[in-house]
Amino acid sequence: MDCIFCKIANGEIPSKKIYEDDVVIVFLDINPISSGHMLVVPKDHTLDLETIDDEVLIHINKVIRKMMKLAYEKIPCDGITICQNNGTAQEVKHYHVHLIPRYKNDKLNFVDGIKDLDVDQIYEKLKQN
Ligand code: 5GP
Ligand code: ZN
Repeated sequence: MDCIFCKIANGEIPSKKIYEDDVVIVFLDINPISSGHMLVVPKDHTLDLETIDDEVLIHINKVIRKMMKLAYEKIPCDGITICQNNGTAQEVKHYHVHLIPRYKNDKLNFVDGIKDLDVDQIYEKLKQN
């Protein structure tokens, strides 16, 4: 299947990887809405919230908690917005959760975004050593 997130998950396409285990991979969004915008992606292809396996969903939520702690400690950020798109709202048709770090008084709007640090600067703060 020609799926960009499957290719990232199996290493065919590079990504700025923050975390990986047997079930999920977390990497920086290529077009971040805010500094540190991460995507949490199951390795096995599935479309959306309707199709994802319950156990995988539970695991993803545990990983989200880990990534939140990482973002608060390492960036640091002041809040985190989490969202997950379905149907016409979903551009990449492989389930993923957006973790969008928030900053005091950031006045984030989801069209322009806010990016004080570029992708490489934020990657240095978050990547596994
Ligand atoms: P969706 O609208 O499907 O929830 O969001 C898809 C997200 O995937 C977008 O924020 C977009 O910037 C991101 N994205 C699309 N292609 C790539 C890619 O090749 N690499 C990375 N790191 N992110 C991608
Ligand atoms: Zn896929």
